[in-house]
Amino acid sequence: MAKCRANNKAGKPCEAPAVEGSDRCIMHSGRAAELGSKGGRRRAIYNQENLKEFAAPKTAGDLRDLLAQSIVELRNGQLDPRLANAVGYVGASYLRALEMSDIETRLIRLEREIERTSQAVRNVGVPR
Ligand SMILES: [Zn+2]
Repeated sequence: MAKCRANNKAGKPCEAPAVEGSDRCIMHSGRAAELGSKGGRRRAIYNQENLKEFAAPKTAGDLRDLLAQSIVELRNGQLDPRLANAVGYVGASYLRALEMSDIETRLIRLEREIERTSQAVRNVGVPR
């Protein structure tokens, strides 16, 4: 196999095995950045098809189950940590929206009750 003809940082010939059909090694081929972006050995390939299917959460309990499952999958190395991070982030937002929606529902109910009560008070006050 041919050897790399590029020089290393010390100015000496690299001499690493050249890529087939080239006179340069993989590091000196100019493709190192591209290969780096694809990831090295430490970057696992996560297949989302291995994750448990979940419908969109409707309650805090649904979200709890989804987060619990995500923790298990993360620890088993099935879930991409970046995806787990995103799930945690949108999960927190979802919980805030759920709380706000609950407060909104209770407020509407309270306003109706106040309206009904004050209507009843007005009716009592009307002379016949
Ligand atoms: Zn080289």
